[in-house]
Amino acid sequence: MVQKGDLLYAWTTDLGLAKKAECGGAVSGLLKFALESRAVEAVLAVKKGVDLYDAVPALITDPAEIDQTAGSLHCGTLLLSKLINNYVPALKGKKVGIVVKGCDMMGLLELAKRGQVNLDNVLMIGVNCGGSVSPVPARKMIAEKYGVSPDDVVKEEIDKGQFIIQTADGNHKGVFMDELEDSGYGRRTNCRRCKVKIPRQADLACGNWGVIGDKAGKATFIEVCSDKGADLVTKAAAAKKIMVEPANPKGVEIRAKVESSMHKLADKWRMRDFSMLSPHLWRDLEKETSRCTKCYACIDKCPVCFPAADRLKKPSIMVRRGTLPVDQMFHLRRLAHISDSCINCGQCEECCPMEIPLALFSHAIRTEEDSFFEPKLGKSEYSN
Ligand code: FAD
Repeated sequence: MVQKGDLLYAWTTDLGLAKKAECGGAVSGLLKFALESRAVEAVLAVKKGVDLYDAVPALITDPAEIDQTAGSLHCGTLLLSKLINNYVPALKGKKVGIVVKGCDMMGLLELAKRGQVNLDNVLMIGVNCGGSVSPVPARKMIAEKYGVSPDDVVKEEIDKGQFIIQTADGNHKGVFMDELEDSGYGRRTNCRRCKVKIPRQADLACGNWGVIGDKAGKATFIEVCSDKGADLVTKAAAAKKIMVEPANPKGVEIRAKVESSMHKLADKWRMRDFSMLSPHLWRDLEKETSRCTKCYACIDKCPVCFPAADRLKKPSIMVRRGTLPVDQMFHLRRLAHISDSCINCGQCEECCPMEIPLALFSHAIRTEEDSFFEPKLGKSEYSN
């Protein structure tokens, strides 16, 4: 019987799924089993849209459709915690399985605190995340740094520190992330600074770090983080939908080392990004936000801006209506409001038409707070 705390190698027994899956297909196998066994009534995952740079959300109720979602799309952040709110009427009271990266998981925890999500009804299947790449820069990066047309790429993956592309003729080409990022490409800037690489507040945390030996590339590493997660894996293995074995201890060691080196890298990016700000924080904030047109994308795209979103859009004694540049207090009020809950998902910055580095400001402020106050970013009073 599988228990909370177990470290496992797992893989799907469904050959069709195994072919499409990123590693061992355990995530898709478990989601399919959860739907078949009615442990959940719907699954919220991600599938390929017009091309592999286009990750689209998929709300699935038919287990046969899970196959469409297998595989990882590294150009999509697709913050699922934001989407769950869009689906709230349809999902109210239903048991839902959701695939979550660290940011998705933190978003759900914040929504639960605000009474928007009942975590008892949510099965969170976490995927480790070393970071994602924004789609438009990704296409430019592939053309410039790989000398390949982005339309010829049939698969992309991040492995052993490299962003690797595969073209239709079967050729692979990898470039180290360091090199890409030093030349202004690579992962989203908020992802570089993120330290929630293994989403341990989900029910399961699944990834490829630490899968070695004959299982390398063929199994998914699962860290069992809750009793709910343990129950699902136990039942899916008993029904022979997935195969499970204890993780190789050497693999566990390697995984810990990779996680630690990812944390060090995130610290390096924090140091680099935040030190640019610190001498002139308020001056830089004023300069950057002077471009703001008050389109409210930062509020609308924020997964946790509840319930004050409407209030922040209204004129106040400190923020006049119809003036440009926007009164500084608009941004200061928004930053103050989000300061206890910013999850560094980066969506405010990514969706800002004026390219204001909003996530940098709020992450810098949140990180400073973290050195004094509890709970830290990514932690919550909710735990498994
Ligand atoms: P599958 O059975 O193939 O299922 C994958 C699931 O992930 C599907 O349900 C799919 O809908 C969902 N998914 C795909 N793209 C996204 C997305 N953008 N956001 C949310 N859900 C998505 N593992 C590591 O060990 N190290 C890493 O550095 C790492 N980086 C990752 C970065 C990203 C952006 C993503 C999405 C995943 C990353 N993973 C990483 C996890 C890894 O790629 C596999 O998802 C995991 O090992 C599970 O493998 P599987 O074969 O069981 O998954």
